[in-house]
Amino acid sequence: DSVVYWMRMGDLRIYDNRALSLASKQAKKDNLPLIVLFILSPQDYIAHDRGAKRIDFTLRNLAIIQEALSKLDIPLKVITHPVRRTLPTAAISFTESIHAKHLYGNIEYEVDELRRDISICEIARKHGISAQFVHNKCVVEPGVVRTKQDRAYTVYSPYQRNWISKLNDGLSHFLENCAPPSPNDPSIRQNKLLSGIFDEPCPVSLAGFELSEEDKQMMQLVWPAGESVALEMLQRFLRTKARPSQLGPVDPLAPGAEESDKKSRVAVYQDGRNRADIDSSSRLSPYLAAGVISVRACIRATMELRKSKTVDSSRQNGMGVWVQEIAWRDFYVDILASFPRVSMGRPFLEKYADVVWEDYQEDQPRAKKEEAKAEQGVSSLDPQDAIQRWKDGLTGYPIVDAAMRCIKEMGWVHNRLRMIAAMFLVKDLMIDWRVGERYFMEQLMDGDLASNNGGWQWSASTGTDAAPYFRIFNPYSQSQKADPSGELIRRFVPELAELKGRFIIRQPR
Ligand code: FAD
Repeated sequence: DSVVYWMRMGDLRIYDNRALSLASKQAKKDNLPLIVLFILSPQDYIAHDRGAKRIDFTLRNLAIIQEALSKLDIPLKVITHPVRRTLPTAAISFTESIHAKHLYGNIEYEVDELRRDISICEIARKHGISAQFVHNKCVVEPGVVRTKQDRAYTVYSPYQRNWISKLNDGLSHFLENCAPPSPNDPSIRQNKLLSGIFDEPCPVSLAGFELSEEDKQMMQLVWPAGESVALEMLQRFLRTKARPSQLGPVDPLAPGAEESDKKSRVAVYQDGRNRADIDSSSRLSPYLAAGVISVRACIRATMELRKSKTVDSSRQNGMGVWVQEIAWRDFYVDILASFPRVSMGRPFLEKYADVVWEDYQEDQPRAKKEEAKAEQGVSSLDPQDAIQRWKDGLTGYPIVDAAMRCIKEMGWVHNRLRMIAAMFLVKDLMIDWRVGERYFMEQLMDGDLASNNGGWQWSASTGTDAAPYFRIFNPYSQSQKADPSGELIRRFVPELAELKGRFIIRQPR
């Protein structure tokens, strides 16, 4: 008999992990061994547009977790299961094979994943196994922040106001620090009996998702794995000053930043956060998306720094504005859970479902569109060529090209640049936002359906942006705000590096 915790791609940590904590409590109560299961699912990764960088990051984190768990005699069993449809049976078969009566996991809010977990609960019941899935991803779980009419919010600002008040009213619940398994748990003795049974090292690569050796080294340098790294990055963000242009392949933990509470990145975040040419933001998104760091720990850290018993999200100070960014993350998960159509490729604003984009689908009225264009004397753009140029950073718009090359090289780019590149694709090239959404998902280390879809639909004006569809970013004025020195462009678009001063961002006449 035993207890199983099924770790997923979004909860790669041991500390402050609700499902793991509950599983370990259960093991302690029944004096049973605890086993951690991870299922690698290549079909799932293809279906969710997961790229090789993200899979590599997952495997690097798993290796660290395996080592930490082994110190507690808790085995991490990694299974590769190729067929997505049969994942529920695979999970239950494993649970049965070790005679476990309890299975725990953290909820994933995408439609397919919710359906999968419902099916697991049904199969588990038939096999006499109790399966329990709990909230862990957000600070305030979806469904809690509701309008007076008990509806989901569809606009961020009122959501955020309600979010902060709900959070402060229920701090002990929302910010619970979930206890990890402890070497002092008497049930750990049972785990010792398993020693040797599951002793397989976790894989270092997955067929179909291999990175080139060069990319692998770069990703290890830019995004080192492990919870201790993420916690250190959080502390650096909260306590040290921003450095200019740390945008290349840099070690984000390299020494060199001065300790300064008053001018720390977070203290000046309200003014500096839109600067993409300095490391103005935390760069924690890959760690948050993979669950390597707990979002509750991030909020608790802001309270500790302010020596406060409440969470502050006021716009008056950097820390409050940063807390608001974390609320955006919760907001998009709430949207995903409340309006499942957004994870099925549908626009949030359904009235925009019939927009005919340049890269029209077969079922769209192509002939009519071509006819209309001919009448207006508009020359046709080759959509596939335009998409490829956008992906390769060869549009001829320096800030867009810098953003796109940065994504490809680092698997990450600053929020403002994501918005500029996304708006350019949708509103200048008139390409379907879903093309960009998919490409970002493949490339981003922090790829997350809720935030990525939210960001894309916001940029395309098919989503929750309160401004109308004709809000269009001018890539040149945006370039001046996001990269006033032009250093970011010089770094990622080297063919322009010779251009001095502001010439690099000036709009050609
Ligand atoms: P910080 O500024 O330090 O913010 C702290 C944390 O708050 C972030 O790590 C992130 O978890 C959260 N956050 C901040 N801004 C947002 C936001 N606008 N929406 C949701 N959460 C936010 N973020 C992802 O995590 N995954 C994605 O796949 C993703 N795709 C995006 C696509 C587009 C088109 C756009 C415009 C934005 C997207 N974002 C996505 C949001 C945002 O760009 C990143 O979260 C941010 O750049 C991460 O950098 P940071 O960790 O330094 O953020």
